[in-house]
Amino acid sequence: MNKPEARGWCPSALMPMMSGDGLLVRIKPAFSRLTSRQAQMIALLSKRHGNGFMDITNRANLQIRGLKQSDYPLMLKDLQDSGIVETHEARDSLNLILAPFTESQSIGWRCAEALYNAASGFPALPSKFGFAIDCGTTRYLQHASCDIRVEIDETGQLLIRLDGCEQGYVTSEETFQSDILQSLHWFVSSQNKKYSYNRMHYLIADSDVPDIFTTTKPCKNTKSLYPGREEDWHIIVLPFGQITADQLLEIADQTQEIIFSINRCLVIDKTATLGQQFITSKDDPRYHVTACAGMPACTNASISTKQLALTICESQAILAGKSYHISGCSKGCAMPSNSDICIIGELGSYNMLENGCAWDKPSYTSLSETALMDALLNLQI
Ligand code: SF4
Repeated sequence: MNKPEARGWCPSALMPMMSGDGLLVRIKPAFSRLTSRQAQMIALLSKRHGNGFMDITNRANLQIRGLKQSDYPLMLKDLQDSGIVETHEARDSLNLILAPFTESQSIGWRCAEALYNAASGFPALPSKFGFAIDCGTTRYLQHASCDIRVEIDETGQLLIRLDGCEQGYVTSEETFQSDILQSLHWFVSSQNKKYSYNRMHYLIADSDVPDIFTTTKPCKNTKSLYPGREEDWHIIVLPFGQITADQLLEIADQTQEIIFSINRCLVIDKTATLGQQFITSKDDPRYHVTACAGMPACTNASISTKQLALTICESQAILAGKSYHISGCSKGCAMPSNSDICIIGELGSYNMLENGCAWDKPSYTSLSETALMDALLNLQI
């Protein structure tokens, strides 16, 4: 089966989206960070106007769920007054992820600032189009979903790399904005009449990329983020990407800032001590299970994905070291690549397959929950 077409737009704070449990407001923290006070404000607003549940997305955003439409203007005003949400649409909609250990006023920070300042002059881009700024000598965002990467090479020169290309091209802080614009205009002008590419890597796979864009390799050192300790920080992950307002308040009480990063990781002060509701080690079975919003949050879902995820994690059916994806329907929003075991809801029952995506042909269909758990147990034999 082919991957179903994605929706044509992504929500933001200024453009909320209606979902099964009410209005959804996506906050894209500037520089991928919130201060503790900002996090507290979001938690209070989620309690006051939303349903107290929020999502942490794969692209380092925070979504307030379950808002009444009539409460939205009040909440937006509070978010803007607290400096959490931009008043300018181009900045609010900019998808930008900044590497987790980027120091304020470093070159990476300044590049992020330059992109926020330049956003209003960008050509019209697909709403999922985004940037990953990863300018340390160790790259952390190599698996981040983005379209343009900003990195350094082995000698410390600043690079712009189109996602899908192994090499990028050298830029400088002085020419950074104009060089970014050059790649954006190439992306926009390379769209053809038959097919419009919504992500850079699709275009790269189908195009002859101009040589000037592929001259220089980024620095070799890469590292992944895992729950646990890293440098002077503590990394935690939210089970199934969901966080309650009380959990956000608990985190905010123990850290000065929260850095949002890929794989739904939150980077917080190393002194924070948090309970078992958070994932603090990759040995936690919940770390290997991804679940989309599911019922009742998404109107396309016919199963409660997060409830099933918890049931599987607490059962004997979970296999150590395997990745699980539980999807409310075949759209597969939460996991765009293969999982070892993929469970998909359909008309209230479960389909399942191994090593694939939610839109692939299932090997098991129309299972009850009991039959599903039996099938999972049988995979262990
Ligand atoms: S995959 Fe999940 S979140 Fe996406 S549309 Fe289907 S049920 Fe909704």
